[in-house]
Amino acid sequence: LLRVSGVRKAFGDHVVLDGLSLDVHAHRVVVLIGASGSGKSTLLRCVNLLEEVDDGTIEVEGRDVTDPRVDADRVRARIGMVFQSYNLFPHLRVLDNVALAPRLVHGASRAEARDRALAMLERVGLAGKARAFPDELSGGQQQRVAIARALVGRPALMLLDEVTSALDPELVGEVLELLADLKEDGVTMVVATHEMGFARHVADEVCFLHAGRVHERGTPEQVLGDPQEPRTQEFLRRFT
Ligand code: ATP
Ligand code: MG
Repeated sequence: LLRVSGVRKAFGDHVVLDGLSLDVHAHRVVVLIGASGSGKSTLLRCVNLLEEVDDGTIEVEGRDVTDPRVDADRVRARIGMVFQSYNLFPHLRVLDNVALAPRLVHGASRAEARDRALAMLERVGLAGKARAFPDELSGGQQQRVAIARALVGRPALMLLDEVTSALDPELVGEVLELLADLKEDGVTMVVATHEMGFARHVADEVCFLHAGRVHERGTPEQVLGDPQEPRTQEFLRRFT
């Protein structure tokens, strides 16, 4: 579903991704771990065409999205992205925040967009908050709305970047539980996180990024339980 091949990305002379490759199959959850600055966000932003790669290719559903002729909006319509900061529109009610994408991106009628948005709010357990404004919700609830908004266009792939790191500790669990539910539904996800518990319990595959590449990859048992590379071991020691 997603194939990243030999991607290079530098900012000035600072090489962040240095020939990075990664494959993600449908219905799988791949967790990216690595030190701050190792390029997790940059990789996700390249996949979503928020950054241009210097070299290499990124295929989404078999199409090379780094081809300059590709329609970036069409690619992004197939990808749902959620950030650390939820970026909800403060002046729009929760329902309208979620209904906006179907209206604008997918050309749905107003009624259809609201139906789809409401169904998705039910999915994330927030149908009762449809009429509320974002600032009337807790951080965890706002993040669940942001996830609903990303899911409402039925994307092929979800990219999640540190979606719990802005949350109070007691709110982290509800968001991680939602992601675990989505995995049960077969949603394909690439998740950058420092939550090793989540990686351990939900990931099909864990990729440790270092020096611009996937330095070590495997099942959570392999990478987190029995890392082979000294760099991975050193990184993980900070979490125990
Ligand atoms: P964290 O765990 O802190 O989120 P990360 O793995 O997501 O880190 P990135 O945000 O991808 O790391 O950043 C990788 C490197 O690229 C960092 O050194 C950062 O300073 C640099 N970088 C990212 N975006 C830009 C930009 N737009 N311009 C210049 N440098 C950038
Ligand atoms: Mg980051």
